[in-house]
Amino acid sequence: MPQLSRRAFAGALPLGLIGGSLLGGGLLGDSAARAATQEAAKAPVAMNPFAQIRIGRFTVTALTDGYADMPYDYFPGRSAPEVERAASAQFTARPSGVRFLFNQYLVEDGERRILIDAGAAGSIGQTGQLPQALAALGLKPDKIDAVIVTHMHQDHMGGLVLGGKNNYPEAELYIDRRDITHWTDPAKRSGAPEYLQTSFRMAEEVVRLYPRLQAIDGEREIMRGVSIVDLTGHTPGHIGVRVEDGGKSMIMVSDMIFPVVHPAATDVFFLFEQDRAAAKAMRDRFFPRAASEGALIAATHMPFPGLGRVVADHGEMRWQVADWALQD
Ligand SMILES: [Zn+2]
Repeated sequence: MPQLSRRAFAGALPLGLIGGSLLGGGLLGDSAARAATQEAAKAPVAMNPFAQIRIGRFTVTALTDGYADMPYDYFPGRSAPEVERAASAQFTARPSGVRFLFNQYLVEDGERRILIDAGAAGSIGQTGQLPQALAALGLKPDKIDAVIVTHMHQDHMGGLVLGGKNNYPEAELYIDRRDITHWTDPAKRSGAPEYLQTSFRMAEEVVRLYPRLQAIDGEREIMRGVSIVDLTGHTPGHIGVRVEDGGKSMIMVSDMIFPVVHPAATDVFFLFEQDRAAAKAMRDRFFPRAASEGALIAATHMPFPGLGRVVADHGEMRWQVADWALQD
């Protein structure tokens, strides 16, 4: 069959059949090879993805620690069927729920390496890939000069304390003081639901294992061109990170935006958000501002690499994926 028509033909087939015809075609009769192919087809996709952009003198590399599927009833403000319908309309509905990625961002300028967040490290879903992702860049955790933790939920700091150790021994740590205070408060911990207990436990470990922790009060520059943005709401000390140089900028907004439900609405939440009024108030302020600025956004849980923009489309906010590959 000529190449073109074969491709056109394959385009009309379900993906599983394409794999069978291209990979298995020459192997029919070799049952061992066929079994291996079938085994590979069942295994989760395991390649570590990378994405890299330039912001002036900075190179920003998106990495990911993995993913987890969040059940449809984890989104207060909407019923499970409503969330599932929205996911279906975006072609992302899975039997197990809404897929959350766990993206981290490495910011480098040739002098310093700053990592934004450290991943869930196996404490949620299929996570724990960040060390391998760094290794693929030729980096060990001791080559990281600073880690900015956007807030003290387990999926953003688990990698710091995996195994009860300080896993980034050379890193200065930056965390908003309001989150440190909240997540190390025994009264808050005893009153919190079971699903937040891991975050409370990890927060204590982070404070104990990282003597170079710097509590941040308000918006400030960490180094020239890298500054903290106050995005309180998701947690009391939830922060973003603005990277800015040479007339370009990007803002890492962490958990301001969840897949499927945001930014179309602000009266829908994720289970982990304890102060929903505060979470709503921040999104009410942030989404229109981001849309009017056309700000390039990096978001932890959006599909990899989590780079996009909030755009206003006939009065409705929607997520516009950013074109990142092979750009200036
Ligand atoms: Zn998160």
